[in-house]
Amino acid sequence: MTRETKSGDTTRDVLRFTFRHWRDQPRYVALIVAAMMTSTLADVFMPVFAGQLVDAITVGAAERDAALRVALMAFAFMTGLGLVTIVMRHLAFYGIVELTLRVMNRVAQDAFARVQRFSTDWHANSFAGSTVRKITRGMWALDLMHDTLLLALLPSLVVLVGSMVVLGLHWPVMGLVVAIGTVTFIVMTAFLATRYVAPAARLANAWDTKVGGTLADALSCNAVVKAFGAERREDSRLSRVLDKWQSRTRRVWQRGTNSGTVQFIALLAIRAAIIGTALWLWWNGQATPGDLAYVLTTYFVIHGYLRDVGMHINNLRRSVNDMEELVEIHREPFGVVDRPGAAPIRIRQGEIAFDHVDFHYAGHETPLYSDLSLTIRGGERVGLVGPSGSGKTTLVKLIQRLYDLSGGAIRIDGQDIAAAQQASLRSQIAIVQQEPILFHRTLAENIAYARPGAGMAEIERAARLANAHDFIMRLPKGYGTLVGERGVKLSGGERQRVAIARAFLADAPILILDEATSALDSESEVLIQQAMERLMEGRTSIVIAHRLSTVRALDHILVFDTGRIVEEGSHETLYRKGGLYRRLCDHQGLKFTRGRGVGLAAE
Ligand code: ADP
Repeated sequence: MTRETKSGDTTRDVLRFTFRHWRDQPRYVALIVAAMMTSTLADVFMPVFAGQLVDAITVGAAERDAALRVALMAFAFMTGLGLVTIVMRHLAFYGIVELTLRVMNRVAQDAFARVQRFSTDWHANSFAGSTVRKITRGMWALDLMHDTLLLALLPSLVVLVGSMVVLGLHWPVMGLVVAIGTVTFIVMTAFLATRYVAPAARLANAWDTKVGGTLADALSCNAVVKAFGAERREDSRLSRVLDKWQSRTRRVWQRGTNSGTVQFIALLAIRAAIIGTALWLWWNGQATPGDLAYVLTTYFVIHGYLRDVGMHINNLRRSVNDMEELVEIHREPFGVVDRPGAAPIRIRQGEIAFDHVDFHYAGHETPLYSDLSLTIRGGERVGLVGPSGSGKTTLVKLIQRLYDLSGGAIRIDGQDIAAAQQASLRSQIAIVQQEPILFHRTLAENIAYARPGAGMAEIERAARLANAHDFIMRLPKGYGTLVGERGVKLSGGERQRVAIARAFLADAPILILDEATSALDSESEVLIQQAMERLMEGRTSIVIAHRLSTVRALDHILVFDTGRIVEEGSHETLYRKGGLYRRLCDHQGLKFTRGRGVGLAAE
């Protein structure tokens, strides 16, 4: 696909996107179009009366009374038309305020709704900051786009076509000159905007998005930056991106200036042609002073609109460019979608079966799982262990259907999860993540996220079960404390207990626990351990286990290595077997003591 066709396609897509939103607001669009057209038609007829006025006052002394009447009449019409213009413009502007706000609101909501539903993979590959920038930039571009199309280009079109018709009826030659000049000017301007400025602007916008992404990435990782005293490194990283953005944007602005100058030269040529033709007609006795006044006034009206048409087309181009990335969001596939007619999944026992599952991460050369089969019985507590990167986390992501399989099926209580509604599946699986992420909202809201509308008593009960109540009560505002972005104001152990409280409240039949790998102080560890054990009661539980104390408490252990289950069984059997599991335990400095299970080597 060449650059030109791509640019044409995206422009069309953006305009189609805008018009689709207009279709939802037909009354406002109709009001604006009608008011704007009436107001501009008044402009078209203004020169006609200006011509009559001049003709009336240049007649001889004998007919002064009759002339006065004509002149006054013309004057009255001119004033009346002026009033009509004002009233109609006022109406149109009121309409556009409402239309634009409604559409902006809708567009932001739609984009957010879509982005939220994009697959985990999409989010893993996108900068949150860049996405925010795309959506907000697109919203504001709509404002410019509406003003340009409805308040600027529509009236310009009405004036240009109207003037040509009125002028052409009166004086065909003049109509022709104006028509040729106007059409040439508009085609040239549109060409400059779409073929000369737009490609440069598209590139500049990509860099503008990168600026947003770089800022957000560095700011959200501020803790790491601080830890390494790397502020200057990040400064220079941003500065490199900004330099590139600067040079790309300079090119756009310079091209904009160049095309502006070309437009002014063209306007000068048109003016020379029109005035020259008028003089020639006058010299040949085909025009009165009134006719000249009429042509000149028309020219000035046309000139004003044409000069602005250049600006409007540039604005249209800019708003299209600014909206492209937003519209692109609507074109991107969701990744993981509900099948048509997908029904909610009903989970009772919580038996999970992998049936010859193949799975391949995009971009990887080899599949992670080939022909993986396993069954986790309802209510069983299963531990996943294995070296880092062996495929433990991916297994739980697949159970949540964050990715689709390339072969085989995953069934919960006999139902294929690929055929169920995603939301119903995920709402019946509670997760405690390794690094729980909290909203910058109160603790109560964070816990209640698992069950909207949960009362304070339920929230507190969940927090008590999670051993979180005591630390929460020690916070200055208790359950009303705000936790900072992503929960940064809490310690790792505290965040984990809030996440456990959330899982208690969710009360889901299936539970996924991803233990924190980072060492916690022993008090926290005991509290978390107790809470987890309570939480696992009566649920199918899958634990990505890093701590031996946890592994010991589980019914069954699956040992992963490079996407395969290489050993499985209870802790004792596996330890005795002396395979990978044994090596992992030994590596952690643990030994097996008969009768006491596993203890720390130091015990
Ligand atoms: P574990 O939890 O055992 O550490 P994972 O299941 O997270 O392992 O990862 C298994 C393999 O898949 C690793 O090689 C990892 O690099 C890769 N991987 C994990 N997530 C993604 C992803 N979103 N896109 C591509 N590859 C991934």
